[in-house]
Amino acid sequence: MLGLMQNQPLLISGLIEFAERHHGDAEIVSRRVEGDLHRYTYKEAASRSRQVANALDQLGLAFGDRVATLAWNGYRHFELYYGVSGSGRVLHTLNPRLHPDQVAWIANHAEDQVLCFDLTFLPLVQAVQGRCTSIKHYIALCAADKLPADSGIPGLQSYDAWIGQQSTEYRWPSFDENTASSLCYTSGTTGNPKAALYSHRSSTLHAYAAALPDVMSISARDAILPVVPMFHVNAWGIPYSAALTGAKLVFPGPALDGKSIYELIESEKVSYAAGVPTVWQMLLGHMKPVGLKFSTLRRTVIGGSACPPAMIQAFNEDYGVEVLHAWGMTEMSPLGTLCTLKNKHDALPPDEKMRIRLKQGRAIYGVDMKIVDAEGAELPWDGKTFGDLHVRGPWVVRSYFKGEGGDPLVDGWFPTGDVGTIDSDGYLQITDRSKDVIKSGGEWISSIDVENIAVAHPAVAMAACIGMPHPKWDERPVVVVVKRPGMDVSKDELLHFYEGRIAKWQVPDDVVFVEAIPLGATGKMLKTRLREMLRDYTLPQT
Ligand code: ADP
Repeated sequence: MLGLMQNQPLLISGLIEFAERHHGDAEIVSRRVEGDLHRYTYKEAASRSRQVANALDQLGLAFGDRVATLAWNGYRHFELYYGVSGSGRVLHTLNPRLHPDQVAWIANHAEDQVLCFDLTFLPLVQAVQGRCTSIKHYIALCAADKLPADSGIPGLQSYDAWIGQQSTEYRWPSFDENTASSLCYTSGTTGNPKAALYSHRSSTLHAYAAALPDVMSISARDAILPVVPMFHVNAWGIPYSAALTGAKLVFPGPALDGKSIYELIESEKVSYAAGVPTVWQMLLGHMKPVGLKFSTLRRTVIGGSACPPAMIQAFNEDYGVEVLHAWGMTEMSPLGTLCTLKNKHDALPPDEKMRIRLKQGRAIYGVDMKIVDAEGAELPWDGKTFGDLHVRGPWVVRSYFKGEGGDPLVDGWFPTGDVGTIDSDGYLQITDRSKDVIKSGGEWISSIDVENIAVAHPAVAMAACIGMPHPKWDERPVVVVVKRPGMDVSKDELLHFYEGRIAKWQVPDDVVFVEAIPLGATGKMLKTRLREMLRDYTLPQT
């Protein structure tokens, strides 16, 4: 027997309509490429999103056509999130940190019709434009008087003029909630990138889940600063969850250095921020030497790569900011787990609470997870046994865009490529990406553990652990280290630092000091590149 409830599709347009009606005066503040602060309300954002939809209609764009962006976090990008998807087109957020060849390859693969870009990326657009065969319309995200005169880009229009001539009236169409809404390519560190094609249903369900108290806990009482980019996995869905809850939004634009982020947090009374560890490293690096404190920041979500314990501790103990450690991936929209404590943990002493907080956390309802061995057999949740992590759920990919890479599922589960343990309370701890695990004498060494210890040393700014071939042990760990400016540590001192913090056989065989560790397009350490850098390196004889 079918239930008798209304079958209203879950559509992204519904989120902005709701925000306009119920939180119309809640603010959206953006630092612009021009350097100034722009502020307006959800009501104005909704109105301009409708203008975007009308402008796309006028261009003759069909349902399902792709509209690409190369843009920072800002209000115009936010309007495109709603105007493009809400009108039935697909928002394709391009990652401007990728190599121009990759950007061109991806835009062609996605068959983008329109490209909207911040002026910061004009040189990139100029470099790829001749190769992007499907793009018919170029829009610069700026006011008419900021449009560069001789850009060399045919038909370039200013976004404000483009939408400005359109009506603010538009009736959002209704369609199947499984319709595609947005497209995001993985960073493609190995081979050509593949894309996750999100749907209105997956994005809306994810937005609900992300706002839950044990997930990102987003509410109308918050002022949220997503430092995590809107060009990668929809800024963890925050632009959607913020509209769903009516939270004030604060967009950092291009200014992602510690000083700018700190000033924005203070001036806009941000209560809540989200980003990858490298961003917070810069923020704390700015604050610590001059003894700055936060006056409003209460919580921060940190994910995208393992958050070093030293950072969780610093936020918590020195600044009174609660860190929520999160794990997810492009293929999961991206949220999989978040680390919050349970009621029964209340009475635990602080160090035991901290031990739990360091993990990647518990699955969100909507994400089913398991760990399996090489044969695919499920492994126990004992917090010790580690295996390949598989997931499934309504916001996990079924297959990649255009069927690239074949069928990725194994018995209906998506293999994440991550390796981890799950404890009896359901807390996941990621030990590695399967390709980064170090296999020494038949035992596995977690590169994350080795890195976390190194960065706990005061003179270490960044550390990456990789396995090096060894005649007897198969592989042995080597830690590659960037020192903090003006500070020093020797190889022996650092190796000594590992004593008592990790089993003896897991202590790296060597320390290699470098000026910088190569970072990928999403701010993560590129271990493939690092391995290339160390091609001629040989382990010390022991
Ligand atoms: P990429 O485009 O680099 O693949 P994703 O954003 O999809 O970027 O990255 C997902 C991967 O990042 C995960 O599979 C995992 O390996 C890593 N990751 C994300 N969050 C965490 C975390 N909290 N701890 C450890 N690793 C993480």
